[in-house]
Amino acid sequence: MAVSVFEKQDFPPNNASSIAGGMLAPFSEIDTLPMKFVAAGLKSIDMWREELGEDFGECLSNEGSLFIAHPEDNHMLERFATHLPMLSDDWEWVEGKRLAELEPSITNNFGRGLYIPQEANINPLQALEALAKKLKELGGEVIQKEADPKDLAQEFDWVIDCRGYIQNLDKDLRGIKGEIILLQNFDFSLKRPVRLMHPRYPLYIIPRPNHVFAVGASVIENASDDDGKVLLRSAMELMSAAYSLDPSFGEAKILDMSSAIRPAYMDNLPRIKIDGKAKYIRCNGLFRHGYLLSPIMGNCVAHYVETGEENEDFPLFSGQFNNCIG
Ligand SMILES: Cc1cc2nc3c(=O)[nH]c(=O)nc-3n(C[C@H](O)[C@H](O)[C@H](O)COP(=O)(O)OP(=O)(O)OC[C@H]3O[C@@H](n4cnc5c(N)ncnc54)[C@H](O)[C@@H]3O)c2cc1C
Repeated sequence: MAVSVFEKQDFPPNNASSIAGGMLAPFSEIDTLPMKFVAAGLKSIDMWREELGEDFGECLSNEGSLFIAHPEDNHMLERFATHLPMLSDDWEWVEGKRLAELEPSITNNFGRGLYIPQEANINPLQALEALAKKLKELGGEVIQKEADPKDLAQEFDWVIDCRGYIQNLDKDLRGIKGEIILLQNFDFSLKRPVRLMHPRYPLYIIPRPNHVFAVGASVIENASDDDGKVLLRSAMELMSAAYSLDPSFGEAKILDMSSAIRPAYMDNLPRIKIDGKAKYIRCNGLFRHGYLLSPIMGNCVAHYVETGEENEDFPLFSGQFNNCIG
């Protein structure tokens, strides 16, 4: 099956996917993801490992993630830990020597943390380049052009619409602004993403090559319009999170600040909508889980196009799960 990807911007585009944190962290998202998606997320991580593992090893980091909290937010860590036994046995409380062994640079007094080895993270820009390379090797192409699905329908067997958030494209879809900051701090190192429990949104600090850290990400509701600029309040919160992790961030350089709109349905869960007669499929609403769930979503679509049938994971994208743990 030959695939042509139409992208209206130069490649790699500047969009929600390219600025994302790239966390493949299903456990971390249990506040917003029903439990079935945690299993799906783990399956997706395996699919990324298969796709990107050998040829594109540096895209993917498999070191798990570490959760910590300032003393005043410690109850959030405790609360989060109460959900974990329902999901997996593969997690541990870490403190003292064990914490220092995992992350020697974390010297501030955080008490204990939670280590979840099964989580992973992906470097978004590298992954997009790697996927485009793979697509070409498999006979596909990326075409820089603003496409109209109706026009494409004349030319192609199926049209798969993955345009993300566009105002008024889908009345059920809303935009959620996400902001992220890139800092460079040669006096600090991390082996894995660190999540800092925070009352307003999940804050993470993700190590990238050359002592660069992606610090994200804000979650701002009903943001239909975005000019890519970061709000002062968000910048202050993200930067103080980094500074509170280690004072050496006071001397860090700010390399970049970006913002984009995440597409989300009312339950924050993604959908595959199919119009079989028109041979049109819309994949949207990936909210905070574009990297976490796209391998499994892509697999569902490929299976449907090849066989005309829904595979076992397809119901995840049907809209029948509400936004609760279960
Ligand atoms: C700050 C931030 C942090 C995030 N962190 C994570 C994370 O840690 N883990 C995770 O799994 N997810 C994360 N995400 C979320 C995830 O990346 C999004 O759900 C996902 O990027 C949405 O992807 P998309 O492909 O649907 O949309 P987009 O990334 O917006 O891509 C849509 C593309 O379609 C193109 N387009 C639009 N119209 C046309 C047209 N007519 N013709 C051709 N091209 C068109 C646009 O130019 C754009 O490039 C994050 C997002 C943000 C903003």
